[in-house]
Amino acid sequence: MAVALLSSLVWFVVSAVLFGRHLDYRRPRRPHRTVAKLGHVRREPPRQIPLLSRVCVICGRQLTNGESMRARVGSTCIKRYGPRYAHQVNPDHGVWVAEMVRARADQAERQARLNVEFDRATAAYPGLVAAWEAERASETGRLRRDARRRAAPMLVSSIAACLASVVVAEFFG
Ligand SMILES: [Zn+2]
Repeated sequence: MAVALLSSLVWFVVSAVLFGRHLDYRRPRRPHRTVAKLGHVRREPPRQIPLLSRVCVICGRQLTNGESMRARVGSTCIKRYGPRYAHQVNPDHGVWVAEMVRARADQAERQARLNVEFDRATAAYPGLVAAWEAERASETGRLRRDARRRAAPMLVSSIAACLASVVVAEFFG
């Protein structure tokens, strides 16, 4: 039974190829508008970052601990006077803003190019469709359709043979 299935599969492949050789060309596709995406830009860094101090702003003693440097007050003074946090502008934020501006400019440029491409394709589309239709209506198109019509019964019967051998294998195998 496996031999029957195998041979009908081979038959199916052969007739599909013979049928497929006479398919029409694909109809030209209607152009689609494409939206340019914003390129990758890293996450926005903080606008401000802590201003560190190497010395206690109250007593002037040198600070080595990271938390004290952020509080800008030493561990003894902080108990009496509390922290003296301060912030500064993060220079990296400015760098990020420039990156974002560049990414948006790049996006706009790509979009402009895509729009030109779309307009050109849209203008060309009716002509392409007309040419495609004319080719189908031509003598070669007609011959191809006839060849397809001749190849169709073999394709259909090969499919039927495949199904039949599966059914035979299932119930009588
Ligand atoms: Zn101090």
